[in-house]
Amino acid sequence: MHRIIDSHIHLCSLAKHNPDRIAWLAEHRCAVISWAFGGNIGTASDLKHYFSYRLTIFDDLRRRGLDCYHLCGIHPRKLPPDLRPEAVAGLLTPFLDIPECLGIGEIGLETGSSLEREILCAQLELGLSLGRPEVRFGIHTPRKEKASITAQLLRLLDVFKTLPHVAVIDHCTHEIIGPVLSRGYHAGISLSRIKSSEVELIQMLESHAPEAGRIMCNTDSGRDFFEDMVLAVHAGKIEQKIAENVFSGTAARFFGIAGEGGATSDCRIVRGERIPTVFSFI
Ligand SMILES: [Zn+2]
Repeated sequence: MHRIIDSHIHLCSLAKHNPDRIAWLAEHRCAVISWAFGGNIGTASDLKHYFSYRLTIFDDLRRRGLDCYHLCGIHPRKLPPDLRPEAVAGLLTPFLDIPECLGIGEIGLETGSSLEREILCAQLELGLSLGRPEVRFGIHTPRKEKASITAQLLRLLDVFKTLPHVAVIDHCTHEIIGPVLSRGYHAGISLSRIKSSEVELIQMLESHAPEAGRIMCNTDSGRDFFEDMVLAVHAGKIEQKIAENVFSGTAARFFGIAGEGGATSDCRIVRGERIPTVFSFI
């Protein structure tokens, strides 16, 4: 596999708490997609500062040879009390115009509160109204009450008819992966000691083998770093064709970035502009 794609990590906190892992990721030929989360977010303007600050981190890491892309969005656990749905477009739009920004994320529901639902809908409406077919959505599901909150989430998302083709619903477990895939979404599985194990991944792949082309892996690394995805690739317990998909190809196709058995072109077309997507490793 010439490139592994970790389709969901948090690069800002990773670079801060595990700086040595940047070279490790490049050495293991990992491309990464960083989803927004945030540090101390007390006000809406804190979000704006966070969105600007993280771009400087990404530029620095790319200069150091890391193949990285990102999503920008407001996480349900990072909603400042002064944030209003009508402020979402002004907050996000400037950051969606950056070539390496693949779309909106990490968004979703944590408790299902009315503010979470309003901010989630505002971000979906914004992203779907841009008229840019390449925009993708990275959607979170919580650890606590995963089945009931995800059921609530899927009902809310049903209103957005075009969303299933451009959204990945993440942190899937055997409880929720069926309903996620049956609605046409892509499913993300977070491989780590605190989310899904390799055994659970293999079980989900076996029970959903026909949809394996819509399943992608990640580690959700950030403050904690997880080697689980690279170890699973090297363990070789998953049949090669399926492994190439879940560890690289599916994310490459879905996000439109070059990868193993995925996108054929070596560039992303952003508003008619060719953005090269292949980086030479160190
Ligand atoms: Zn998450």
